[in-house]
Amino acid sequence: MKNIRNFCIIAHIDHGKSTLADRLLEFTKTIDSKELQAQVLDSMDLERERGITIKSTAVQMNYEYGGEKYILNLIDTPGHVDFSYEVSRSIAACEGALLIVDAAQGIQAQTISNVYMAIEHDLEIIPIINKIDLDSARPDEVEDQIVELLGCPRSDILRASGKTGIGIEEILAAVIERVPAPTGDPEAPLQALIFDSVFNPFRGIIAYFKIVNGSIAKGDLVKFVNTGKEYDADEVGILRLGMEARQRVECGDVGYIISGIKTSKEVKVGDTITHVKNPCDKAIEGFEEVKPMVFAGVYPIESEEFENLRASLEKLQLNDASLTFQPESSVALGFGFRCGFLGLLHMEIIQERLEREFNMDVITTVPNVSYKVYDKKGAVKEVHNPAGLPDPTLIDHIEEPYIRSSIITSTTYIGPIMTLCLGKRGILIKQEYISGDRVEIIFDLPLGEIVIDFYDKLKSISKGYASFDYHIHDFRPSKLVKLDILLNGEPVDALSTLTHADNAQSFGRRMCEKLKELIPRQQFDIAIQAAIGAKIIARETVKAVRKDVTAKCYGGDISRKRKLLEKQKEGKKRMKQVGNVEVPQKAFLAVLKLD
Ligand code: GDP
Ligand code: MG
Repeated sequence: MKNIRNFCIIAHIDHGKSTLADRLLEFTKTIDSKELQAQVLDSMDLERERGITIKSTAVQMNYEYGGEKYILNLIDTPGHVDFSYEVSRSIAACEGALLIVDAAQGIQAQTISNVYMAIEHDLEIIPIINKIDLDSARPDEVEDQIVELLGCPRSDILRASGKTGIGIEEILAAVIERVPAPTGDPEAPLQALIFDSVFNPFRGIIAYFKIVNGSIAKGDLVKFVNTGKEYDADEVGILRLGMEARQRVECGDVGYIISGIKTSKEVKVGDTITHVKNPCDKAIEGFEEVKPMVFAGVYPIESEEFENLRASLEKLQLNDASLTFQPESSVALGFGFRCGFLGLLHMEIIQERLEREFNMDVITTVPNVSYKVYDKKGAVKEVHNPAGLPDPTLIDHIEEPYIRSSIITSTTYIGPIMTLCLGKRGILIKQEYISGDRVEIIFDLPLGEIVIDFYDKLKSISKGYASFDYHIHDFRPSKLVKLDILLNGEPVDALSTLTHADNAQSFGRRMCEKLKELIPRQQFDIAIQAAIGAKIIARETVKAVRKDVTAKCYGGDISRKRKLLEKQKEGKKRMKQVGNVEVPQKAFLAVLKLD
């Protein structure tokens, strides 16, 4: 055990974590540079394309240093806030962390939140200034920032380039010399922390764990403490680039277990594995049930596809326990599902996977958060859909989730960012200078305001020089009202939103204006109205088209006419018939695009 090192890499997105991981694998000859596909740790196609790591993975490297053989377990962590719980669990499986900071960008919001997490778990932090090959690199300035953040001596900070390979050897030496070997009692009852799981179509669910105490052998009867379920360990092993089966995985090591688990719901990240005979006293601390916070309706465009959509969502859920879904129906959209996501990126990823991997054409409604609705008798109900709100006369008050967010930016942009956050009902908690002209602003904000067009606005007003990170803080009472949209007098439930009473008027007006832009002209006038209860607060009209588009083809070229009709059909693919009005998918997301 004294020659094991378990470490992770923490970084703000794009600071070069995956690239550096590749160099480490290459340098330790875990992987041949010839067969090195860029960023081997990002295994899903989608991750590769988007350049983000969604699911964390682990990989073992063997390395000789000072005449001794070492086992280095690198645990990759996802880099996006939506997946911060997974980050925290992978961090808990390590004794050390490489903290990567881009030499040109400096410390960003996720750098700080990851550092706090690493400190909380007592990890040895090895700070690395990466991308020093860049012309725009400012390593001295970034060094100041790191010293300020960690309070470490300058000499602790390494400089590297994942691109050119500078500093890789020094990083490996630092891992061995500075990161403590895992402690733990090999003779104690088994206690293994599950930090990730994946679905394999042939083997079922594979859970990744780190052994904190004891050891696990093939054939053992084990129990997952938090779910209470028991399994036979059909196969256990370590993680090289792929899985390598072993008779036994020892204390301090990182490994996997295959035990006939069929759905990802049974394997909860953060759960503890122990033996059924001679179990450990208690579970490893810090287990949390991840709860989706952002909800949206997902509807098939063709209503016959409902069962296919269900099957597709079930398959996705095998791989992604944080996705939830429940059948719901909408007057406007028919039968579909209310899906729960960890955040907006998670929602986008699911939507994209439905389309790409399952060929599903779906309509997604405006995302909303989870509300706590208190009735006059004091009973509380969680509502995941504005359309599901009880009758207003029965409601005592509504609470909505608030986040605590950290924004790091240059002093130049403080003004506009303050204006943006205050406009989103934000409450300023603290403002702190980091170094030079960089400042961290802490705001409490309603999550419901963030899921709607916050990132894009932040990015544009700061010209990209603001980073953002958040966690759910608490629920607070708010004066929320339900805003309905009517098309030709018919309320369209899928367009209902909950909004703050003070903003409702302007919000309703902007919704109507936007919908007018997005709904194409049809054979008749379309009235678009916004209403709170029975009161209409805004109105726009989409004027009718006059001409039949195919009229000019009569007597003419039949194939041209067919083409035109096909084109119309193509356009319709993303349309949904609501009453007698054709509504495009874009319109259901209009609220995300308000000016
Ligand atoms: P991650 O999001 O932290 O995993 O970052 P990636 O490893 O995907 O890198 C983000 C971008 O930075 C990619 O375009 C990389 O090619 C680039 N990059 C990574 N490391 C370096 C480096 O050391 N030098 C330079 N110039 N570019 C780098
Ligand atoms: Mg990456």
